Amino acid sequence: MGWKTLDDMDLNGKRVLVRVDINVPIVDGVVTDSTRIRRIAPTVRDILAAGGKPILLAHFGRPGGERRENLSLNQLVPTLERAFETRVLFAADCIGAGAEAAADALQPGEVLLLENTRFHATETKNDPELAAGMARLGEIYCNDAFSAAHRAHSSTEAIARLLPACAGRLMQAELQALESALSQPQRPVTAVVGGAKVSTKLELLGNLIEKVDHLVIGGGMANTFLVAKGLPVGISLAERIMKDTAAEILAKAKAAGCEIILPSDIAVAKKFEAHAEHEILPADQCPEDGMILDAGPDSLARINEVFEASKTLIWNGPLGAFELEPFDAATNAAALKAAALTRAGQLISVAGGGDTVAALNASGAAGDFTYISTAGGAFLEWMEGKELPGVAALESA
Ligand code: AMP
Repeated sequence: MGWKTLDDMDLNGKRVLVRVDINVPIVDGVVTDSTRIRRIAPTVRDILAAGGKPILLAHFGRPGGERRENLSLNQLVPTLERAFETRVLFAADCIGAGAEAAADALQPGEVLLLENTRFHATETKNDPELAAGMARLGEIYCNDAFSAAHRAHSSTEAIARLLPACAGRLMQAELQALESALSQPQRPVTAVVGGAKVSTKLELLGNLIEKVDHLVIGGGMANTFLVAKGLPVGISLAERIMKDTAAEILAKAKAAGCEIILPSDIAVAKKFEAHAEHEILPADQCPEDGMILDAGPDSLARINEVFEASKTLIWNGPLGAFELEPFDAATNAAALKAAALTRAGQLISVAGGGDTVAALNASGAAGDFTYISTAGGAFLEWMEGKELPGVAALESA
């Protein structure tokens, strides 16, 4: 851990520029899901409690460098005030004389929100001049936007090199969870990778086979592996063109001592529909007109065994077509098993990335996981073993 936290900084009386992700959904000017705002509240409260003055830097949507009123952060002020239980002032630009005056006038207990950083086209180019303009507003930089850390932008990367820099509480929790799951995990480590396609998760699989002891492959992408093993998959979603790549992954995993667990039995239907008539068959018996939509109970029993023997679990992607009942069965049952082992103190479980959060929420298991990352792209890039520029900049700060 080469980065500092708020505890390492002297915040008293200091203006603290906090990069946050408050890119919340809005319908007709109303915030429909304030989860992201609630998750940054501890950072803001801790800075205020230490006598610091939080100044929030954030992007909102994709204005493409133009000032667009419907993407103004101004509309979030009431929701932020409710979440922080304090007054939130607004500056109509994230740099310049107006923002500097607002930052100077900020009183203890108050928060200043700066306008959408992406109203400047140079933000996404990691422009040092824009970063310098932002840095003039504060004395300390705190990055609490892990979900934006895979992008090198002025407000996530360049600015961290201009001020004493640290991670906020959410970033800290996310990095600690991820480090304990993959960088320095308690072994054995199991990864679950599911979802639609092998082609979108090649780098992920390549990194994981080097690092984990067991790799459970599920969902549509498991079908491609079945094809690589010469098994029939009927009309299932499968990337036949990736057959050789899948075979190479199997060979590399073997050489690296990583056990790959593919479905040994399958739920097969004729249509991609909820409640479609289906049967459970051995994995080598998919009929020509059959569509594999989930893993079966034997596969699940093996997955449960592997989970029981593991100390750490990292999960991305559903094991079947989880949006269609009952083809959410394997995903739900495996998630509930992981949740029970976590509750019993036997397992550290970390999950994240797009559909995974939705799938684990639907199963009712999410609350018991050690950590669920909502960071999407940043979580996946981290799982792929890539350096995240926003984190690297904190490490060298
Ligand atoms: P991803 O975005 O790659 O994590 O993929 C998630 C999507 O994969 C979900 O929409 C699932 O419905 C889909 N999926 C998972 N398993 C299957 C399957 N066996 N056949 C078709 N789609 C699947």
